[in-house]
Amino acid sequence: MKRIQGWGNSETDYPVPEPAQQYLESVVGKPRQLKNASVDSLIKKVPSSDLPKHPLVSTDAEDRLRHARGQSLNDWVDMQDGLVNTFPDGVAYPASDEDVRDLIVYAGQHRINLIPYGGGSSVVGHLTPPGDGPLTLSVDLCKMNKLLNLNEENHEATFGAGVSGPDLEAQLQQHGYILGHFPQSWEYSTLGGWIVTRSVGQQSIHYGRIEPLFVTGHMETPSGPLTFPRVPKSAAGPNLKHIALGSEARLGILTEATMRIRRLPEEEHFYSAFFPNFEIGVEAIRKIAQAELPLSMLRLSDPFETETTFQLSGEEKLVNIAKKGLNLFGQGDERCMLVYGLTGNRSENRLADRELAHAVRAHDGMLVKFYLGQEWIKKRFLTPYLRNTLWDLGYALDTLETALPWDKLQEGRKAILGAIRNGLKDENEPILVFSHVSHVYTNGGSMYVTYLYRRSTDPEQTLAHWRRLKGAASQQIVAHGGTISHQHGVGLDHKPYLPLEKGALGMQIMQNIIRDVDPHGIMNRGKLLDTD
Ligand SMILES: Cc1cc2nc3c(=O)[nH]c(=O)nc-3n(C[C@H](O)[C@H](O)[C@H](O)COP(=O)(O)OP(=O)(O)OC[C@H]3O[C@@H](n4cnc5c(N)ncnc54)[C@H](O)[C@@H]3O)c2cc1C
Repeated sequence: MKRIQGWGNSETDYPVPEPAQQYLESVVGKPRQLKNASVDSLIKKVPSSDLPKHPLVSTDAEDRLRHARGQSLNDWVDMQDGLVNTFPDGVAYPASDEDVRDLIVYAGQHRINLIPYGGGSSVVGHLTPPGDGPLTLSVDLCKMNKLLNLNEENHEATFGAGVSGPDLEAQLQQHGYILGHFPQSWEYSTLGGWIVTRSVGQQSIHYGRIEPLFVTGHMETPSGPLTFPRVPKSAAGPNLKHIALGSEARLGILTEATMRIRRLPEEEHFYSAFFPNFEIGVEAIRKIAQAELPLSMLRLSDPFETETTFQLSGEEKLVNIAKKGLNLFGQGDERCMLVYGLTGNRSENRLADRELAHAVRAHDGMLVKFYLGQEWIKKRFLTPYLRNTLWDLGYALDTLETALPWDKLQEGRKAILGAIRNGLKDENEPILVFSHVSHVYTNGGSMYVTYLYRRSTDPEQTLAHWRRLKGAASQQIVAHGGTISHQHGVGLDHKPYLPLEKGALGMQIMQNIIRDVDPHGIMNRGKLLDTD
């Protein structure tokens, strides 16, 4: 059963080993163990609903609570500490395009704000109902989860947009095909959510971001149905499917999507390597990315993330032996771990592995082809459960991300991490912050930052701390020319920074498109950008 508070299902836990707890205490201090608000107390906060009756709409309080928030840190404080104070006034479960159209007409008639709900894994406030203004209806696409068409000739598959990652791959892989889109939230996030937030899967080097995988789709909008052409490529003016990508539900509800698929790979391997420090490691992965080796993934952790990964592994003895071995080979305290993936046919993988090994050695690196890579792949969808355990121990954990050109990446990273590390210095509150580079391109890479700090007895203060840290980091991101989001989207949390990236005319163009398609403003009001 999906948790109401925290990440994932309630049957899965990821315990933090005792030595790791000591490590965290040594870095950020003794945590304050606090009680979470009970689910019953949250359900009691859900007010009665004023939504006009509709056969597809449930006004059940637990249903409304379940759809009230996503997974941003703000959402966590709201749901776990009991600050949640806005709820959808109802939840609808459409099963067809006609149902969706019907709900849009109903929303138009009663000026109801619609918030489509995929897997609820948004980390930037996409799903928060506005505090004032119109009534809000959450439209959960979970019933639209079927493989609708498999075109083996074209290597294309059409799915209902509410299909989750595991359901999608299960339906596809039984026919010998794979989409290969694996964001860390894969267990719950959905195809529709991926497209409208422009998400990126962990093996993006091989499979690509969601954009190139998205062939066409169907969207129900307040101005009518919109189907994009199903052609391999086109030069017939601007590509309208790009208005669905990143639209964050401001234009309509995506009901189905046709995706580019591949044959299941012949084989797949995940290995690791170490570099003496981050600068050398980045230089190595830049060259590897620019050599365009057919890898599926490159993920370079900085020294803090490398150390934290060791600490959290729970394999104290093994880690000590590994560290001694790494020290002997010149990989000391500044060591950085690289995890890389090979996905495809045997001969191509072998060639790529050989070329990568040359590049690693040319940068004083060391290959470790056992255990670490396999552990990473084994736990890749389990690690988000750590956030639950850490929260219960008294720590708030958040992540943020950007992408920077290679020539700005090192400097940008230092500034972003510095801003977070020193963000609460005036309150003597230390922060554990670390990063990795992944999703590499020939001209740059994405930077993913994780930070952890102690929860406060006053949840408002936990939230105030997050705002300061997130704000300080975001300012450094834009000051260094990074994008405010490489993969999570804009939602509420990144909205203030969007005009800097798009410019005045760019904002105006986007506002005009939204106003044209949604003249009464019924689609996910207040997210992405302001149109009022
Ligand atoms: C633990 C964790 C790990 C994550 N890892 C990654 C990662 O590796 N890569 C990455 O890119 N992101 C990641 N994310 C962020 C998140 O998973 C993505 O943004 C994802 O694309 C959201 O999909 P969803 O189905 O959960 O959408 P939701 O969270 O339900 O919704 C997100 C937005 O999309 C809209 N929406 C959803 N479905 C539709 C639809 N059918 N039509 C119109 N609008 C719709 C919603 O209204 C909302 O505005 C992670 C999040 C978590 C919690």
